[in-house]
Amino acid sequence: MEAKEQALFIQKDISMANFTTYKTGGKAQYFCLPKNIEEIKQAINFAKENKLDFYILGLGSNILVGDLGIKGLVCCLKDFEKIKIKNNTITALAGTPLDKVIATSVLNNLGGLEKLSGIPGSVGGAVFMNAGAFNGETWQNITSVEVLKDGQVKTIKKEEVKAEYRKVKGLENCLILSATWALTEPADKNLREEILAKRKLKQPLEYPSAGSVFKRPVGDYASRLIDSCNLRGLTIGGAQVAQKHAGFIINYNKATAQDIRNLMKEVQKIVKEKTGFSLELEQILWGDFKN
Ligand SMILES: Cc1cc2nc3c(=O)[nH]c(=O)nc-3n(C[C@H](O)[C@H](O)[C@H](O)COP(=O)(O)OP(=O)(O)OC[C@H]3O[C@@H](n4cnc5c(N)ncnc54)[C@H](O)[C@@H]3O)c2cc1C
Repeated sequence: MEAKEQALFIQKDISMANFTTYKTGGKAQYFCLPKNIEEIKQAINFAKENKLDFYILGLGSNILVGDLGIKGLVCCLKDFEKIKIKNNTITALAGTPLDKVIATSVLNNLGGLEKLSGIPGSVGGAVFMNAGAFNGETWQNITSVEVLKDGQVKTIKKEEVKAEYRKVKGLENCLILSATWALTEPADKNLREEILAKRKLKQPLEYPSAGSVFKRPVGDYASRLIDSCNLRGLTIGGAQVAQKHAGFIINYNKATAQDIRNLMKEVQKIVKEKTGFSLELEQILWGDFKN
């Protein structure tokens, strides 16, 4: 389908390999990088007028895009970036890297976000997913988020949503514009350094990936279950269960998205057969896969 009126900043056939941390996958039929709310609204209108599916992309660190690509408009917020500190609160626009917010808060001696250090997502992605690590979660210190819903900018207070494990109820059909955290002095610089060092030691950061592939099942850990089936190093095409961390699949050697998808399915099948646990994907699949 050809879009009727193509807004100036909307591009066609853009490879998602450049905008996702797996560094593979097909093309987005339409793609844009808005820098302000007006451009975000223009993008939404463009999708509506042309009856296109609308996808909000942050830093692409939790998404696998199928090799056959995405039909619709991918609106990537990575250029919608700003941090503001006022007294003990920090507000950041959705495209700001979460880790940049944490580095800035620590530099200003504001503590509370240190445990999230090193999560490579954007503020919008972290808020949407309630990203977390080391017993910390994105929503712990949030006071409110600003969203675009039904064409209107709205403020949603923390009490109005239910933040759960890697999902938030109450943000349906919302494009997150910014988040505000209330922090306390002092910051724990050592904790941040410790966590960054642990990530470097335990995670295969030298390869493209999208972090933990599966959610933590009730009563166990996905990586422990995968490990118990001796699946470290299992390879399909260019995709591999990381040697360094069984919960990660890495783009080891020019993997296609299908290689990664096939390996996800293979791990799920073997773990189910050997342990009885059904592993559920934490990562999000976009677009079309061959199978
Ligand atoms: C090496 C590595 C380590 C990781 N470690 C962790 C970890 O410790 N803990 C953890 O929780 N995750 C981890 N992740 C996964 C990932 O970083 C998080 O899920 C992150 O929150 C995703 O943010 P993003 O901007 O990349 O979102 P994307 O992957 O771009 O998008 C994820 C979802 O959020 C939605 N979304 C994004 N922005 C917005 C917005 N502004 N408004 C509405 N919806 C939006 C998208 O539509 C999509 O559904 C890791 C990933 C990698 C590669």
